[in-house]
Amino acid sequence: MTADRNTDAETGKMAALIEEAEKDLLHTYNRYQIVLDRGEGMYLFDTDGKRYLDFMAGIAVFAFGYGDRDFNDALKAQIDRIIHTSNYFYNEPAICAAKHLKQVSGMDRVFFTNSGAESVEGALKAAVKHAYLKDGRHDHEIIAMEHSFHGRTYGALSVTGNEKYRDPFGPMPGDVKFARINDIDSVKACISDKTCALIMEVVQGEGGVIPATSEFLREVRSLADERGFLLIFDEVQCGMGRTGSMYAWQKYGVKPDIMTTAKALGCGVPVGAFLMTEQVAGSSLAAGDHGTTYGGNPLAAAAVCKVLDLYEERHIVEHVQEISPYFESRLDELKAEFPGIIDRRGAGLMQGLVFDRPVKGIIADAMDHGLILINAGSDIIRFVPPLIVSRENIDEMLRILRPCIEKEYSR
Ligand SMILES: *Cc1c(COP(=O)(O)O)cnc(C)c1O
Repeated sequence: MTADRNTDAETGKMAALIEEAEKDLLHTYNRYQIVLDRGEGMYLFDTDGKRYLDFMAGIAVFAFGYGDRDFNDALKAQIDRIIHTSNYFYNEPAICAAKHLKQVSGMDRVFFTNSGAESVEGALKAAVKHAYLKDGRHDHEIIAMEHSFHGRTYGALSVTGNEKYRDPFGPMPGDVKFARINDIDSVKACISDKTCALIMEVVQGEGGVIPATSEFLREVRSLADERGFLLIFDEVQCGMGRTGSMYAWQKYGVKPDIMTTAKALGCGVPVGAFLMTEQVAGSSLAAGDHGTTYGGNPLAAAAVCKVLDLYEERHIVEHVQEISPYFESRLDELKAEFPGIIDRRGAGLMQGLVFDRPVKGIIADAMDHGLILINAGSDIIRFVPPLIVSRENIDEMLRILRPCIEKEYSR
Protein backbone atom coordinates (compact mmCIF):
# COMPACT_ATOMS: atom_id res chain seq x y z
CA MET A 1 0.00 0.00 0.00
CA THR A 2 1.45 3.38 -0.88
CA ALA A 3 1.78 6.03 1.80
CA ASP A 4 -0.68 8.43 0.22
CA ARG A 5 -3.52 5.90 0.55
CA ASN A 6 -5.95 5.59 3.39
CA THR A 7 -5.23 8.98 4.89
CA ASP A 8 -8.13 10.79 6.55
CA ALA A 9 -8.39 13.09 3.56
CA GLU A 10 -8.87 10.12 1.22
CA THR A 11 -11.42 8.33 3.40
CA GLY A 12 -14.88 9.10 2.18
CA LYS A 13 -13.67 9.82 -1.33
CA MET A 14 -15.29 6.58 -2.42
CA ALA A 15 -18.77 7.58 -1.22
CA ALA A 16 -18.53 10.83 -3.20
CA LEU A 17 -17.44 8.98 -6.34
CA ILE A 18 -20.35 6.55 -6.05
CA GLU A 19 -22.80 9.43 -5.71
CA GLU A 20 -21.38 10.95 -8.91
CA ALA A 21 -21.56 7.62 -10.74
CA GLU A 22 -25.21 7.12 -9.87
CA LYS A 23 -26.09 10.48 -11.45
CA ASP A 24 -24.57 9.60 -14.81
CA LEU A 25 -24.43 5.87 -15.44
CA LEU A 26 -27.48 3.98 -16.60
CA HIS A 27 -28.56 1.92 -13.64
CA THR A 28 -28.38 -1.58 -15.13
CA TYR A 29 -26.36 -3.02 -12.25
CA ASN A 30 -26.91 -3.04 -8.52
CA ARG A 31 -23.20 -2.52 -7.96
CA TYR A 32 -21.26 -3.24 -4.83
CA GLN A 33 -20.62 0.09 -3.14
CA ILE A 34 -16.92 -0.04 -3.91
CA VAL A 35 -14.77 1.92 -6.36
CA LEU A 36 -11.82 -0.27 -7.33
CA ASP A 37 -8.63 1.58 -7.98
CA ARG A 38 -5.71 -0.78 -8.56
CA GLY A 39 -4.49 -4.32 -8.14
CA GLU A 40 -1.44 -6.23 -7.04
CA GLY A 41 -1.18 -9.98 -7.51
CA MET A 42 -4.29 -11.58 -5.98
CA TYR A 43 -5.36 -8.35 -4.26
CA LEU A 44 -7.44 -5.34 -5.26
CA PHE A 45 -7.56 -1.94 -3.57
CA ASP A 46 -10.44 0.52 -3.47
CA THR A 47 -10.10 4.29 -3.68
CA ASP A 48 -10.17 4.51 0.12
CA GLY A 49 -7.14 2.19 0.26
CA LYS A 50 -8.94 -0.92 1.56
CA ARG A 51 -7.48 -4.24 0.40
CA TYR A 52 -9.51 -7.18 -0.94
CA LEU A 53 -8.55 -10.76 -1.71
CA ASP A 54 -10.03 -11.42 -5.15
CA PHE A 55 -11.89 -14.68 -5.86
CA MET A 56 -13.89 -13.23 -8.75
CA ALA A 57 -11.15 -12.12 -11.17
CA GLY A 58 -13.40 -9.57 -12.88
CA ILE A 59 -15.81 -12.47 -13.65
CA ALA A 60 -13.32 -15.16 -14.64
CA VAL A 61 -11.20 -12.72 -16.62
CA PHE A 62 -7.92 -12.12 -14.82
CA ALA A 63 -5.84 -15.27 -15.13
CA PHE A 64 -2.61 -13.73 -13.86
CA GLY A 65 -2.16 -11.45 -10.90
CA TYR A 66 -3.00 -7.80 -11.18
CA GLY A 67 -0.26 -5.42 -12.22
CA ASP A 68 1.75 -8.10 -14.03
CA ARG A 69 4.93 -6.41 -15.34
CA ASP A 70 5.42 -8.61 -18.41
CA PHE A 71 1.82 -8.31 -19.53
CA ASN A 72 1.61 -4.57 -18.91
CA ASP A 73 4.91 -3.89 -20.70
CA ALA A 74 3.76 -5.83 -23.76
CA LEU A 75 0.57 -3.73 -23.91
CA LYS A 76 2.49 -0.47 -23.48
CA ALA A 77 4.92 -1.39 -26.25
CA GLN A 78 1.99 -2.08 -28.60
CA ILE A 79 0.29 1.20 -27.67
CA ASP A 80 3.44 3.06 -28.69
CA ARG A 81 3.60 1.20 -32.01
CA ILE A 82 -0.02 1.16 -33.23
CA ILE A 83 -3.38 0.61 -31.52
CA HIS A 84 -5.82 0.26 -34.38
CA THR A 85 -5.80 -0.33 -38.12
CA SER A 86 -9.31 -1.68 -39.04
CA ASN A 87 -9.76 -5.09 -40.59
CA TYR A 88 -9.20 -3.77 -44.10
CA PHE A 89 -5.53 -4.40 -43.32
CA TYR A 90 -3.50 -7.19 -41.77
CA ASN A 91 -1.60 -6.58 -38.56
CA GLU A 92 1.18 -8.63 -37.01
CA PRO A 93 -0.28 -9.10 -33.51
CA ALA A 94 -3.49 -10.55 -35.02
CA ILE A 95 -1.49 -12.98 -37.15
CA CYS A 96 0.45 -14.08 -34.06
CA ALA A 97 -2.72 -14.31 -31.94
CA ALA A 98 -4.61 -16.38 -34.53
CA LYS A 99 -1.75 -18.84 -34.97
CA HIS A 100 -1.31 -19.32 -31.25
CA LEU A 101 -5.04 -19.62 -30.59
CA LYS A 102 -5.33 -22.30 -33.28
CA GLN A 103 -2.51 -24.21 -31.64
CA VAL A 104 -4.01 -24.23 -28.16
CA SER A 105 -7.59 -24.86 -29.30
CA GLY A 106 -7.05 -27.38 -32.08
CA MET A 107 -9.55 -25.44 -34.22
CA ASP A 108 -8.68 -24.27 -37.74
CA ARG A 109 -10.01 -20.75 -38.37
CA VAL A 110 -10.33 -17.72 -36.09
CA PHE A 111 -12.48 -14.58 -36.14
CA PHE A 112 -11.65 -11.99 -33.45
CA THR A 113 -14.43 -10.07 -31.72
CA ASN A 114 -14.63 -7.59 -28.83
CA SER A 115 -16.58 -9.64 -26.30
CA GLY A 116 -18.15 -12.95 -25.40
CA ALA A 117 -21.60 -11.99 -26.65
CA GLU A 118 -20.18 -10.98 -30.03
CA SER A 119 -18.36 -14.28 -30.28
CA VAL A 120 -21.67 -16.05 -29.76
CA GLU A 121 -23.32 -13.84 -32.40
CA GLY A 122 -20.65 -14.81 -34.92
CA ALA A 123 -20.87 -18.49 -34.02
CA LEU A 124 -24.65 -18.47 -34.56
CA LYS A 125 -24.37 -16.65 -37.88
CA ALA A 126 -21.74 -19.13 -39.07
CA ALA A 127 -23.97 -22.08 -38.14
CA VAL A 128 -27.05 -20.65 -39.83
CA LYS A 129 -25.14 -19.75 -42.99
CA HIS A 130 -23.64 -23.24 -43.06
CA ALA A 131 -27.11 -24.77 -42.98
CA TYR A 132 -28.44 -22.27 -45.52
CA LEU A 133 -25.72 -23.22 -47.99
CA LYS A 134 -26.72 -26.86 -47.53
CA ASP A 135 -30.49 -26.64 -47.96
CA GLY A 136 -31.41 -23.03 -48.86
CA ARG A 137 -33.98 -22.81 -46.06
CA HIS A 138 -34.73 -19.67 -44.06
CA ASP A 139 -36.40 -21.36 -41.11
CA HIS A 140 -33.55 -23.03 -39.25
CA GLU A 141 -33.83 -23.85 -35.57
CA ILE A 142 -31.22 -23.79 -32.85
CA ILE A 143 -31.15 -25.91 -29.73
CA ALA A 144 -29.85 -24.29 -26.53
CA MET A 145 -29.84 -25.30 -22.86
CA GLU A 146 -31.97 -24.16 -19.95
CA HIS A 147 -29.91 -22.22 -17.39
CA SER A 148 -27.39 -21.31 -20.06
CA PHE A 149 -25.84 -17.88 -20.39
CA HIS A 150 -24.47 -16.61 -23.69
CA GLY A 151 -24.56 -12.81 -23.39
CA ARG A 152 -26.89 -9.81 -23.63
CA THR A 153 -27.07 -8.94 -27.33
CA TYR A 154 -30.20 -10.13 -29.19
CA GLY A 155 -28.75 -13.24 -30.81
CA ALA A 156 -26.86 -14.32 -27.69
CA LEU A 157 -29.91 -13.54 -25.56
CA SER A 158 -32.13 -15.66 -27.79
CA VAL A 159 -30.12 -18.77 -26.80
CA THR A 160 -29.77 -17.80 -23.13
CA GLY A 161 -31.88 -20.17 -21.03
CA ASN A 162 -33.09 -17.68 -18.47
CA GLU A 163 -36.56 -16.26 -19.09
CA LYS A 164 -35.98 -13.35 -16.76
CA TYR A 165 -33.30 -12.00 -19.12
CA ARG A 166 -35.29 -12.63 -22.31
CA ASP A 167 -38.87 -11.89 -21.39
CA PRO A 168 -39.03 -8.07 -21.56
CA PHE A 169 -37.26 -8.01 -24.93
CA GLY A 170 -39.33 -10.38 -27.01
CA PRO A 171 -39.80 -11.47 -29.67
CA MET A 172 -36.37 -13.02 -29.97
CA PRO A 173 -34.66 -13.50 -33.33
CA GLY A 174 -34.46 -17.04 -34.59
CA ASP A 175 -36.28 -20.14 -33.56
CA VAL A 176 -34.71 -21.53 -30.41
CA LYS A 177 -35.70 -24.65 -28.49
CA PHE A 178 -34.44 -25.26 -24.98
CA ALA A 179 -33.27 -28.66 -23.74
CA ARG A 180 -31.78 -29.61 -20.38
CA ILE A 181 -28.08 -30.18 -19.84
CA ASN A 182 -27.22 -33.84 -19.11
CA ASP A 183 -30.66 -34.97 -20.31
CA ILE A 184 -30.17 -36.36 -23.78
CA ASP A 185 -33.88 -37.20 -24.21
CA SER A 186 -34.72 -33.52 -23.80
CA VAL A 187 -32.28 -32.80 -26.65
CA LYS A 188 -33.77 -35.49 -28.86
CA ALA A 189 -37.22 -34.00 -28.30
CA CYS A 190 -35.99 -30.68 -29.73
CA ILE A 191 -34.43 -32.03 -32.93
CA SER A 192 -36.22 -31.53 -36.23
CA ASP A 193 -35.17 -31.40 -39.88
CA LYS A 194 -34.79 -27.63 -39.36
CA THR A 195 -32.21 -27.94 -36.56
CA CYS A 196 -28.97 -26.29 -37.66
CA ALA A 197 -26.99 -26.16 -34.40
CA LEU A 198 -26.87 -26.96 -30.73
CA ILE A 199 -25.13 -24.41 -28.52
CA MET A 200 -24.04 -25.12 -24.95
CA GLU A 201 -21.45 -24.31 -22.30
CA VAL A 202 -19.29 -27.28 -21.36
CA VAL A 203 -19.54 -26.03 -17.78
CA GLN A 204 -22.51 -23.72 -17.30
CA GLY A 205 -21.30 -20.62 -15.44
CA GLU A 206 -23.86 -17.91 -14.74
CA GLY A 207 -26.68 -20.45 -14.64
CA GLY A 208 -25.30 -22.25 -11.58
CA VAL A 209 -21.85 -23.78 -12.22
CA ILE A 210 -23.15 -26.99 -13.76
CA PRO A 211 -20.67 -29.22 -15.63
CA ALA A 212 -21.85 -31.33 -18.56
CA THR A 213 -21.16 -35.03 -18.13
CA SER A 214 -18.77 -36.65 -20.59
CA GLU A 215 -21.59 -39.04 -21.55
CA PHE A 216 -23.86 -36.11 -22.45
CA LEU A 217 -21.13 -34.44 -24.51
CA ARG A 218 -20.46 -37.66 -26.42
CA GLU A 219 -24.18 -38.13 -27.04
CA VAL A 220 -24.77 -34.60 -28.37
CA ARG A 221 -21.71 -35.04 -30.61
CA SER A 222 -23.09 -38.23 -32.14
CA LEU A 223 -26.60 -36.77 -32.49
CA ALA A 224 -25.09 -33.78 -34.31
CA ASP A 225 -23.22 -36.10 -36.66
CA GLU A 226 -26.21 -38.37 -37.28
CA ARG A 227 -28.73 -35.57 -37.81
CA GLY A 228 -26.38 -33.20 -39.62
CA PHE A 229 -26.37 -30.16 -37.32
CA LEU A 230 -23.38 -28.30 -35.89
CA LEU A 231 -22.16 -28.41 -32.31
CA ILE A 232 -21.20 -25.04 -30.79
CA PHE A 233 -19.39 -24.93 -27.45
CA ASP A 234 -19.44 -21.61 -25.64
CA GLU A 235 -16.12 -21.62 -23.79
CA VAL A 236 -16.24 -17.93 -22.86
CA GLN A 237 -16.19 -18.68 -19.13
CA CYS A 238 -15.05 -22.29 -18.77
CA GLY A 239 -12.25 -21.94 -21.32
CA MET A 240 -8.71 -20.57 -21.06
CA GLY A 241 -7.52 -23.17 -18.59
CA ARG A 242 -10.08 -22.49 -15.91
CA THR A 243 -11.24 -26.09 -15.58
CA GLY A 244 -7.79 -27.67 -15.94
CA SER A 245 -7.49 -27.94 -19.72
CA MET A 246 -7.02 -25.03 -22.10
CA TYR A 247 -10.60 -25.52 -23.30
CA ALA A 248 -13.00 -27.55 -21.19
CA TRP A 249 -14.04 -29.83 -24.08
CA GLN A 250 -10.44 -30.99 -24.58
CA LYS A 251 -10.57 -32.97 -21.35
CA TYR A 252 -13.47 -35.01 -22.74
CA GLY A 253 -12.13 -35.33 -26.27
CA VAL A 254 -15.47 -34.15 -27.70
CA LYS A 255 -14.64 -31.54 -30.29
CA PRO A 256 -17.14 -28.88 -31.38
CA ASP A 257 -17.57 -27.60 -34.93
CA ILE A 258 -17.59 -24.01 -33.70
CA MET A 259 -16.26 -22.64 -30.43
CA THR A 260 -16.36 -19.28 -28.67
CA THR A 261 -13.80 -17.81 -26.29
CA ALA A 262 -13.38 -14.44 -24.50
CA LYS A 263 -13.12 -13.41 -20.81
CA ALA A 264 -9.55 -14.53 -19.89
CA LEU A 265 -8.46 -14.40 -23.54
CA GLY A 266 -7.42 -10.73 -23.20
CA CYS A 267 -6.95 -10.72 -19.41
CA GLY A 268 -8.76 -7.40 -19.14
CA VAL A 269 -8.39 -6.08 -22.67
CA PRO A 270 -11.80 -6.51 -24.33
CA VAL A 271 -11.36 -9.25 -26.91
CA GLY A 272 -13.07 -12.49 -27.87
CA ALA A 273 -13.07 -14.93 -30.75
CA PHE A 274 -15.08 -17.59 -32.45
CA LEU A 275 -13.29 -20.47 -34.08
CA MET A 276 -14.34 -23.24 -36.40
CA THR A 277 -13.12 -26.32 -38.17
CA GLU A 278 -11.86 -26.06 -41.74
CA GLN A 279 -14.93 -27.99 -42.85
CA VAL A 280 -17.32 -25.34 -41.45
CA ALA A 281 -15.06 -22.46 -42.54
CA GLY A 282 -15.15 -23.74 -46.11
CA SER A 283 -18.90 -23.47 -46.23
CA SER A 284 -20.28 -20.71 -44.02
CA LEU A 285 -19.22 -17.08 -43.55
CA ALA A 286 -17.60 -15.62 -46.67
CA ALA A 287 -16.24 -12.18 -47.55
CA GLY A 288 -18.89 -9.58 -46.77
CA ASP A 289 -20.91 -11.84 -44.44
CA HIS A 290 -19.50 -10.64 -41.15
CA GLY A 291 -17.27 -7.88 -39.82
CA THR A 292 -16.18 -5.67 -36.96
CA THR A 293 -14.36 -2.35 -36.70
CA TYR A 294 -12.31 -3.17 -33.64
CA GLY A 295 -12.23 -6.98 -33.52
CA GLY A 296 -8.65 -8.26 -33.41
CA ASN A 297 -7.13 -4.80 -33.55
CA PRO A 298 -3.39 -4.60 -32.82
CA LEU A 299 -3.79 -3.73 -29.14
CA ALA A 300 -6.36 -6.45 -28.44
CA ALA A 301 -4.41 -9.00 -30.47
CA ALA A 302 -1.15 -8.08 -28.72
CA ALA A 303 -2.94 -8.82 -25.44
CA VAL A 304 -4.00 -12.25 -26.75
CA CYS A 305 -0.46 -13.04 -27.95
CA LYS A 306 1.07 -12.10 -24.63
CA VAL A 307 -1.61 -13.90 -22.62
CA LEU A 308 -1.05 -17.13 -24.55
CA ASP A 309 2.75 -16.77 -24.26
CA LEU A 310 2.50 -16.28 -20.51
CA TYR A 311 0.16 -19.28 -20.16
CA GLU A 312 2.88 -21.39 -21.73
CA GLU A 313 5.87 -19.85 -19.94
CA ARG A 314 4.24 -20.01 -16.54
CA HIS A 315 2.50 -23.36 -16.97
CA ILE A 316 -0.84 -21.84 -16.01
CA VAL A 317 -2.96 -24.84 -17.03
CA GLU A 318 -0.68 -27.23 -15.14
CA HIS A 319 -0.99 -25.02 -12.08
CA VAL A 320 -4.79 -25.19 -12.30
CA GLN A 321 -4.58 -29.00 -12.45
CA GLU A 322 -2.27 -29.03 -9.48
CA ILE A 323 -4.18 -26.62 -7.21
CA SER A 324 -7.77 -27.68 -8.02
CA PRO A 325 -7.90 -30.86 -5.90
CA TYR A 326 -6.80 -28.81 -2.88
CA PHE A 327 -9.43 -26.16 -3.59
CA GLU A 328 -12.14 -28.79 -4.00
CA SER A 329 -11.20 -30.59 -0.79
CA ARG A 330 -11.20 -27.37 1.23
CA LEU A 331 -14.64 -26.44 -0.16
CA ASP A 332 -15.86 -29.96 0.63
CA GLU A 333 -14.71 -29.48 4.23
CA LEU A 334 -16.75 -26.29 4.40
CA LYS A 335 -19.77 -28.09 2.97
CA ALA A 336 -19.42 -30.86 5.57
CA GLU A 337 -19.39 -28.24 8.35
CA PHE A 338 -22.60 -26.46 7.36
CA PRO A 339 -25.82 -28.40 6.72
CA GLY A 340 -27.08 -25.31 4.87
CA ILE A 341 -24.56 -25.96 2.11
CA ILE A 342 -26.32 -28.47 -0.11
CA ASP A 343 -23.76 -29.09 -2.81
CA ARG A 344 -20.29 -28.30 -4.13
CA ARG A 345 -19.97 -28.55 -7.87
CA GLY A 346 -17.87 -27.35 -10.76
CA ALA A 347 -14.57 -28.14 -12.41
CA GLY A 348 -11.07 -26.90 -11.66
CA LEU A 349 -11.05 -23.26 -10.60
CA MET A 350 -14.70 -22.79 -11.53
CA GLN A 351 -16.57 -23.92 -8.43
CA GLY A 352 -19.95 -23.32 -6.86
CA LEU A 353 -21.28 -23.83 -3.35
CA VAL A 354 -25.03 -24.31 -3.38
CA PHE A 355 -26.81 -22.98 -0.29
CA ASP A 356 -30.32 -23.58 1.01
CA ARG A 357 -30.97 -19.82 0.94
CA PRO A 358 -29.92 -16.62 -0.87
CA VAL A 359 -26.20 -15.92 -0.54
CA LYS A 360 -26.41 -12.15 -0.93
CA GLY A 361 -25.84 -11.50 2.78
CA ILE A 362 -22.82 -13.80 2.97
CA ILE A 363 -21.21 -12.17 -0.06
CA ALA A 364 -21.81 -8.65 1.29
CA ASP A 365 -20.34 -9.65 4.64
CA ALA A 366 -17.28 -11.19 2.94
CA MET A 367 -16.82 -7.98 0.97
CA ASP A 368 -16.86 -5.98 4.24
CA HIS A 369 -14.13 -8.28 5.50
CA GLY A 370 -11.97 -7.86 2.41
CA LEU A 371 -12.95 -10.80 0.22
CA ILE A 372 -14.49 -10.44 -3.24
CA LEU A 373 -16.83 -13.22 -4.36
CA ILE A 374 -19.73 -13.49 -6.79
CA ASN A 375 -22.95 -15.45 -6.96
CA ALA A 376 -24.38 -17.59 -9.77
CA GLY A 377 -28.13 -17.37 -9.31
CA SER A 378 -29.44 -16.34 -5.91
CA ASP A 379 -28.39 -19.40 -3.86
CA ILE A 380 -24.93 -20.19 -5.21
CA ILE A 381 -21.55 -18.67 -4.36
CA ARG A 382 -19.32 -18.89 -7.41
CA PHE A 383 -15.56 -19.10 -7.06
CA VAL A 384 -13.60 -18.04 -10.15
CA PRO A 385 -10.27 -16.74 -8.76
CA PRO A 386 -7.29 -15.67 -10.84
CA LEU A 387 -5.66 -18.87 -12.10
CA ILE A 388 -2.44 -18.16 -10.20
CA VAL A 389 -4.25 -18.67 -6.88
CA SER A 390 -2.11 -20.42 -4.24
CA ARG A 391 -2.90 -22.70 -1.30
CA GLU A 392 -2.23 -19.77 1.03
CA ASN A 393 -4.77 -17.65 -0.90
CA ILE A 394 -7.33 -20.46 -0.62
CA ASP A 395 -6.70 -20.77 3.13
CA GLU A 396 -7.00 -17.01 3.57
CA MET A 397 -10.24 -16.97 1.57
CA LEU A 398 -11.72 -19.64 3.84
CA ARG A 399 -10.57 -17.83 6.99
CA ILE A 400 -12.63 -14.84 5.87
CA LEU A 401 -15.61 -16.76 4.44
CA ARG A 402 -16.22 -19.25 7.28
CA PRO A 403 -17.31 -16.68 9.92
CA CYS A 404 -19.53 -14.98 7.32
CA ILE A 405 -21.37 -18.27 6.78
CA GLU A 406 -21.55 -18.88 10.54
CA LYS A 407 -23.09 -15.45 11.00
CA GLU A 408 -25.68 -16.11 8.28
CA TYR A 409 -26.79 -19.33 9.99
CA SER A 410 -26.85 -17.88 13.50
CA ARG A 411 -29.24 -15.10 12.57
C1 LIG B 1 -19.76 -13.92 -19.86
C2 LIG B 1 -20.27 -14.88 -20.85
C3 LIG B 1 -20.71 -14.48 -22.13
C4 LIG B 1 -20.82 -13.03 -22.52
O1 LIG B 1 -19.59 -12.41 -22.56
P1 LIG B 1 -19.52 -10.80 -22.63
O2 LIG B 1 -18.07 -10.53 -22.84
O3 LIG B 1 -20.05 -10.30 -21.32
O4 LIG B 1 -20.35 -10.37 -23.76
C5 LIG B 1 -21.07 -15.45 -23.03
N1 LIG B 1 -21.02 -16.75 -22.70
C6 LIG B 1 -20.62 -17.18 -21.49
C7 LIG B 1 -20.57 -18.64 -21.21
C8 LIG B 1 -20.24 -16.26 -20.51
O5 LIG B 1 -19.87 -16.68 -19.30
